[in-house]
Amino acid sequence: MAGLYLHVPFCKQACHYCDFHFSTDRSSGSELCQAMAHELIIQKDYLKETITTIYFGGGTPSLLTRQEIDLLFNTIHFHYSVAPDAEITLEANPDDLTKEKLKELHEAGINRLSIGIQSFDDALLKFLNRAHDSHSALQCLENVRETGFTNVSIDLIYAIPNLSEKIWEETLRKALTFSPEHISSYALTIEERTVFGNWSKRGKLHPMEEEPAARQFEMLMDILSDNGYEQYEISNFCKPGFYSKHNSSYWKGAHYLGIGPSAHSYNGISRQFNVRNNAQYIRSIGKKEIPFERELLSPENKINEYILTTLRTVWGCDLNFLTTQLNDDLILRKGDYLSLLKQQNLVVISENILKLTQKGKLVADKIAEDLMLPV
Ligand code: SF4
Repeated sequence: MAGLYLHVPFCKQACHYCDFHFSTDRSSGSELCQAMAHELIIQKDYLKETITTIYFGGGTPSLLTRQEIDLLFNTIHFHYSVAPDAEITLEANPDDLTKEKLKELHEAGINRLSIGIQSFDDALLKFLNRAHDSHSALQCLENVRETGFTNVSIDLIYAIPNLSEKIWEETLRKALTFSPEHISSYALTIEERTVFGNWSKRGKLHPMEEEPAARQFEMLMDILSDNGYEQYEISNFCKPGFYSKHNSSYWKGAHYLGIGPSAHSYNGISRQFNVRNNAQYIRSIGKKEIPFERELLSPENKINEYILTTLRTVWGCDLNFLTTQLNDDLILRKGDYLSLLKQQNLVVISENILKLTQKGKLVADKIAEDLMLPV
């Protein structure tokens, strides 16, 4: 079980909150795609396992042309062993998803779409500087079903300044009318190197207070659970059987290879981070060199990553695994703190698996931080 991630670093315009790596100058698009195909060849021995998930992320992978997708797929299938039932996801923005484009993606072999809807409210979409409006969001959701996609995820953002509970509830209810198989929903975070970060520094933007943001998170959990969605990770909800296989394997520690500028890779021993610069990436690949930095994982890093990722999931943190595989006895190290969390109904421990309760999910980051080792 291994994953392949391809980072497509182009967007039509910069959303005010986004600090992912992307460029709005798309002139080097085809050259970059060629470079990614070359990187796939150079890295063909990185993963020893069969590829069970392929994920086109970004940036905006729905900007790829059919020829570019075919080039990447052909290279993958020639040089890698891919499971016949592999989950193949492509992140897409609503304004790209015309009927023709959807048909093209379906025919190319994409079997799961992750659509950046974010909101159905025009004023909020404008505030976020999204390239689409509510009409194209609704239209694309109708189109995906007509085209035959049966595994669709949508992204929604809450805790946006000015997002009232009324609009948030309407957003969730509207999303549910399309019965997406999967919903990812994140609170807006203000990142430093973004327009919002700049506004916030100058006092022009104030993040939503903790309490109303927590209420919107509770509304998200309650409404989706009432409608048959399982919260299998703090920010991810799905209908029965529709976990994102790609993300679930990350959280379970599977190995993955990241291709493209800013992509990360993990082989159980170290993490690699490709350079966040398109021109530099193209130049290095031209010289048959992968422009990356490597970080060897210390025993403390491995323990912390395990706690941080597993605690957020429905599968929980396996205390036996921590002791036997990572040499960390959490009960011995943090027994008093865990008892306190249990008394406060924030966690449960059953059959040596530590899990957050609904109440605990509201303070997940704080709990994980308290359980981690200093590095
Ligand atoms: S489209 Fe996605 S990747 Fe591009 S700027 Fe907006 S949020 Fe970031």
